[in-house]
Amino acid sequence: VKTQGKNNYQFYSASLSENVAERMELENSLRNALKKEEFFLSYQPKVDIKTNQVIGMEALLRWNHGKLGMISPAKFIPIAEESGLIVPIGEWVLRMACKQNKDWQDAGFPPLRVAVNLSARQFQKKNLVEVISKILAETGLEPRWLEVEVTESILMQNMEFTVSILQQLQAIGIHISIDDFGTGYSSLNYLKRFPINSLKIDQSFVQDIATDPDDAAIVTAVISLAHHMKLKVIAEGVETEGQLEFLRMRNCDDMQGYYFSKPLKAEEFTKLLESSKEI
Ligand code: C2E
Ligand code: CA
Ligand code: CA
Ligand code: CA
Repeated sequence: VKTQGKNNYQFYSASLSENVAERMELENSLRNALKKEEFFLSYQPKVDIKTNQVIGMEALLRWNHGKLGMISPAKFIPIAEESGLIVPIGEWVLRMACKQNKDWQDAGFPPLRVAVNLSARQFQKKNLVEVISKILAETGLEPRWLEVEVTESILMQNMEFTVSILQQLQAIGIHISIDDFGTGYSSLNYLKRFPINSLKIDQSFVQDIATDPDDAAIVTAVISLAHHMKLKVIAEGVETEGQLEFLRMRNCDDMQGYYFSKPLKAEEFTKLLESSKEI
């Protein structure tokens, strides 16, 4: 048992230092990824549950590493956040998403709202509002066609400052959503204090709504709570007809998930827009 324990320890420490090395290597290549144009955005449709119409899309960052190929956001976003690189990268995401959305509008498609994920690091900078305003002015996108998705953890740190930033963004006309709702610090207090337009129910609650009574109760309660507070609700990670039916019966407003579409490259999203135009 003793030897086994020792071997286990050696194995563990070896894989640990491998992870550290891998992380450092990823961080180094992340530093150059913007310059090397290795990033692109995918767009996942958000759909009105009642009408089945596309009402917007979430821009999701993709990294095609020169040597390693596609790397998942779950792997590189945390490194980008810890290193602070998420600030310039996040600015690039905002600019690309606004520009692409304006291009779609200029091409004559019905205007849609594009949602961009913001990380806590971007809120710690004092100039977020100016950065976003400048990008909107440069790309010519009207503020009402931009949405920012923020997580509960962002709201919990430095509350007063965050409230004032969100108020300024909302005053410009930008739409504000709480992402992964229910997975963070479960304080309902901020629903009252923060300027918010919609709640995004996390996919971990959506997954088993048709079979798990607890998840069903939580989702039902969140939809009702949101509506009483005049907020819109969107469910993410909708994969099945059963989940959709449940959400429809409870008057959830919008949905996003593989059931309707995976995240699409810009060209693929254009095709989707073209095909819905003909209908
Ligand atoms: P998120 O904001 O919660 O985004 C939703 C994730 O769920 C996306 O993963 C999306 O591809 C995935 N998804 C969508 N529909 C389904 C479904 O029906 N089933 C399942 N199982 N998954 C679905 P993705 O693109 O890998 O992104 C992961 C996370 O990385 C995002 O979670 C977000 O937190 C972060 N992220 C992505 N892009 C950005 C970005 O530009 N900036 C920041 N700060 N974070 C980003
Ligand atoms: Ca999101
Ligand atoms: Ca989410
Ligand atoms: Ca999530």
